[in-house]
Parts: sequence; C-alpha cells; structure tokens
Amino acid sequence: MVVGRNRDAQLIIDEDAIYANIHSEKQRLADDSEMFMVVKANAYGHGAVQVAQIAKEAGATGFCVAILDEAIQLREAGFVSEPILVLGLTDLSDLPLIYKYDVSVTVSSADWIKQAAELGRQMHFTHKIKTFLALDTGMGRIGLQTPAEVTDYLQSLHVVKNQIEFQGVYTHFATADEVDDKYFDFQLQNFKDLMAAIPNKPRYVSVANSATSLWHHVTGANMIRYGVAGYGLNPSGTAIEAPFTLQPALSFTSELIYVKKVASGRSIGYGATYNVDKPQWVGTIPVGYADGVCRRMKGFKVLIDGNYCPIIGRVCMDQVMVRLPYEMKLGTKVTFVGTQAGKTITLQDVAEYCGTINYEIACGFSDRLPRVYY
Ligand code: PLP
Repeated sequence: MVVGRNRDAQLIIDEDAIYANIHSEKQRLADDSEMFMVVKANAYGHGAVQVAQIAKEAGATGFCVAILDEAIQLREAGFVSEPILVLGLTDLSDLPLIYKYDVSVTVSSADWIKQAAELGRQMHFTHKIKTFLALDTGMGRIGLQTPAEVTDYLQSLHVVKNQIEFQGVYTHFATADEVDDKYFDFQLQNFKDLMAAIPNKPRYVSVANSATSLWHHVTGANMIRYGVAGYGLNPSGTAIEAPFTLQPALSFTSELIYVKKVASGRSIGYGATYNVDKPQWVGTIPVGYADGVCRRMKGFKVLIDGNYCPIIGRVCMDQVMVRLPYEMKLGTKVTFVGTQAGKTITLQDVAEYCGTINYEIACGFSDRLPRVYY
C-alpha cells in the first residue's frame, strides 16, 4: 500500500513515551530478567523498525514478531545480532529463510524439529536452528499440553541436538489482564507441571506478556514479551490500574479540507442516514475506514479547534464528515486520537465506543497513514 506522504493526515508517534513505558517496566524486572519488545503488526501500528530502535535504547535485548517476514524486516533494517522470536508457527518450507536470517522460531511439535533437522542436514546448514518450545497451559492456541508430550519432545530434541538449539520455552496467559486470578492460577500450575518435565532449562524461560509482567509475580522465568504497555496502552482497558503511568505514544491528526453550511432537509453520507434538521456547519476530513477510522465510529467525536465535534453520517472509505459548532477555516487541525486544547480522546475511548480493545484500533491504522516521529 502506498504511504500518503502528500496528504493532510498522519499518526504522530511520541518516541519518549515509548522509551519511558519500556524503561519503567525494565526497572521493575529482576536483574537476571530480559525484555523482548513485541513489535509484531508493525509494532501495533507504531512502526516496527522505529520502535525496535527505541526499545533497544531503552533496554530491550530482543524482539518478538508474529510472522517470519516481520523478523526479516528487522534483520534487514540492521538488527543483526538481537534474538528475534517468531511467536506464530513457521512452515518448514521457510527453513532456508529461518536459517539465513538466524531467526528464533516457535515450535509446537516433535515432528517439526525432526523434519527441520533432516532438511538442515540435506542443505548443509553450518549453524543450528534456534527454537522456542510453546507450552499450552490454557490459552488453547499452540503448544504442548501435557508433561508426557514435553518428555517425548525432549527425547526427539536430544536426537537432533546438533542441528536444533533449544533456546527457550514460553507460555501465554489468557486472563492475565483480568481482576479474577482463578484461571491465571490454573494456567500457572499447568506451567509448573510442564516445566517439571524439562530437567535442563533452556536459556530463556518466558511467561509474561504486558499484563502478566505488570500484575503478576511468577518465579522461574527470565524474559518478558512486552507489547501493548510499551505503547502506553493498558492491557486491561480500564479494569486494572498499571503500577506506573503508561504514556500513550500515538496521536492521529488530520485537518478540515472542506467546510460548508448545509440546509435543513438534506442528508449526509452513504445511505443518507444523517438528516439535517436545522441549518448547520459541516466539515469534511480526508480520512476514512481505509486508514483505520472504523465505520463503527459513526456518532463518535473528534477534536477541532478545541471542540468535541460528532462524526455524522457513515464513515466513507477515504473521507468522513463532522458537525461543526461554527464556521471553521480550511486546514483547521482535527484530532482523532490525542490532546487538543486540554481535551483528550484516547485510543481506549475509541475502542470502547467501537466495542473492541485498544489493541485492535492501534493495529487497524493502515500503512496509508504516514507515521511521524518526534
Ligand atoms: N506473547 C504472545 C505469545 C502474544 O501473542 C502477544 C500478543 O498478542 C504478546 C506476547 C504481547 O502481548 P501484550 O501486547 O499484551 O503485551
């Protein structure tokens, strides 16, 4: 997708905020604990390469991504020596790339390592493939579930230990961001049972995403996979307060490109769903759902000239209309997310209005919006 560098709309990313969110959590970690910054999905919309650089400066020693291409992007951007863990499962057909870019991959089956070792032999690999074993303690997504499976896996690993490195093991909690700890404790017990089947621990043992790291104390782990909180977003939404002030890093601004007085009796937008009952000023903003302004934002607000202005009519693909309290000049700044004249609209506000979580709104901003860093 083309980046709209010549348009009046942008995501503005506060680098200091990201630095502070990472640094604050890093300081809470035990001395022997490392942080891998999760920069998948273009760093939750914030820009993977830029965030990786800030994270490195703030003390992160590795990165997590979701897919192999995201790992390759980081390697090609110059992150040549940091561990990069692909959290999703990778296909054996991608083994040459995994090898070439020396990426750490998540493994969920003994078959994968057996076949990878065989392929590596055929292709004369000269260094080992780095692997993290996923343990499914209750997320129900990927990973081994029982101590017997783990034991079986380790036996297979032993056979291929010259080709496959057991670099780490991790699990993922499903409810670490909830007030009720019952399911968390169930998963934790499962984790302990599974870990008991691993006599020789690998270099990395990881249990924590942001929520686990912020709100739970788990012993025996030495690496966190820190994502959403690094961007200043609370993983629980508003359910649990973070132990330090999270600083939202992303603002989203545009401007008025058309302003007109609309007479009563007319309608606004597709479907003619907003009917003008009395003459009013209407502004048009050049962003739409193709940029990540989701259609469910109809009826929500934006900030213009220090006023909350409602989005009227349906959000179009590339434009959106708002009701203005008075005539405003073309080029007047519009804030979808961020602060203007002491008033703020947060990503969390948008998420709540749209019936979703802050993660989804952040990831939903498309590449068409340029990212500007300061
Ligand atoms: N670890 C895994 C396996 C994940 O899937 C994710 C995100 O979805 C994370 C860590 C980071 O989670 P968070 O952004 O909540 O910190």
